[in-house]
Amino acid sequence: MTLDDHAEELASALGVDKEEVKADLQNLVEYSVPMEEAKNSLRRKYGDDTDGGAPASKAIADVSTGDGSVTVRGRVLTVGKRSIRYQGDELVIFEGELADESGKISYTAWEDFELAPGDTIEAHGAGVREWEGNPELNLGSETTVAFADDHLDVPYEIGGESTLAELVPGDRGRTLAVRVAEVEEKVIDGRDGETEILSGVVADESGRLPFTDWNPHEGIDEGASVRIENAYVREFRGVPSVNVAEFSTIEPLDETIEGGENAPRMSVHEAIATGGLFDVTITGSLLAVRDGSGLIQRCPECGRVIQRGECRAHGDVDGEDDLRVKAIVDDGTASLTAVLDADLTEEVYGGDVEDAREAARDAMDQEVVADEIRESIVGHEFRVRGTLSIDDYGANLEATEFAPRDDDPAEHARTLLAEVDEAGGAEVAE
Ligand SMILES: [Zn+2]
Repeated sequence: MTLDDHAEELASALGVDKEEVKADLQNLVEYSVPMEEAKNSLRRKYGDDTDGGAPASKAIADVSTGDGSVTVRGRVLTVGKRSIRYQGDELVIFEGELADESGKISYTAWEDFELAPGDTIEAHGAGVREWEGNPELNLGSETTVAFADDHLDVPYEIGGESTLAELVPGDRGRTLAVRVAEVEEKVIDGRDGETEILSGVVADESGRLPFTDWNPHEGIDEGASVRIENAYVREFRGVPSVNVAEFSTIEPLDETIEGGENAPRMSVHEAIATGGLFDVTITGSLLAVRDGSGLIQRCPECGRVIQRGECRAHGDVDGEDDLRVKAIVDDGTASLTAVLDADLTEEVYGGDVEDAREAARDAMDQEVVADEIRESIVGHEFRVRGTLSIDDYGANLEATEFAPRDDDPAEHARTLLAEVDEAGGAEVAE
């Protein structure tokens, strides 16, 4: 039977226009839908035994969370494979992004449709659900996926190659070329009891990010440069974190991936606008040392800072002394709170927790420690490197480095010369 014959047969059975049926049939067959399946799909579309026909075809940018089910045509940008536990069962899912000329959209495939980056597909009957505020396509048992030979041109990169700076939480199916900057083994209480994982930091020329390898892979060794395929990204403590899992692959690279030694320098405004950064350097004036700085007490159970021996979670506890600084740093574009841990606080205080305790005892007031720190740093300019996170209370920079501002030497020289000139003492050497 020719396509024409099939169309004729179908049109008369359904009592609809043959040319219309033929055009639809041709379209489906071009997408490699088998003839019988194509005809069934058209029976559903034109037949009166269904609930109003096949879902409407939509441009990807027009898909909204209000749509129950849609038909979309798009190019597969990325495909990540992951196993999840769903209602007690272990399921392997595929996830990534699909794009057309109008935009792109995330998808989750609950069955293996054998999608590969670069494929142009037409998905009939894709469910739409809301995921992190955006519509996401669900390809499942109700969905027919057809592959087209003619590729759709899309204004997006195909394949998941990314630099660390490009990654955002929710990314799936990513390919990275990175150096393992730090790695340690950890034992966690996983869903199947105690599980060993790897966690650390990866770096490339664009920066550094924390990572977790949930199924410790060969080759994730400190200092090693590796290609990681099929990684996904989650938010962890306010910053993107690279997740390596069961279906990720690790290959050693011949070249060494450089970078990550220095954190990118940004204005405070720029840094805050990113929503959170694992590693960033800012410089600014230290305006004030906030309450809760200097000698503090922490709950021995949870580590929270306690007030008058009271932990918010554990009630009356025997607090443990610690040192901390929370300082407001402003660079003229915006301000943030730099949080210095005990080690960095010791440096600016010039003493350890024992010295602080002694000073507090002598003065019968532990505020003397914060006061002394205030005196030495408020009003000065500092360079602060660390992890920036933003919450309802503002922007916090957990400092890993805290040092007096170190502008470039040429700038220093010019400033010095200007000062000498101003002093009027400059004599031109002949
Ligand atoms: Zn506690």
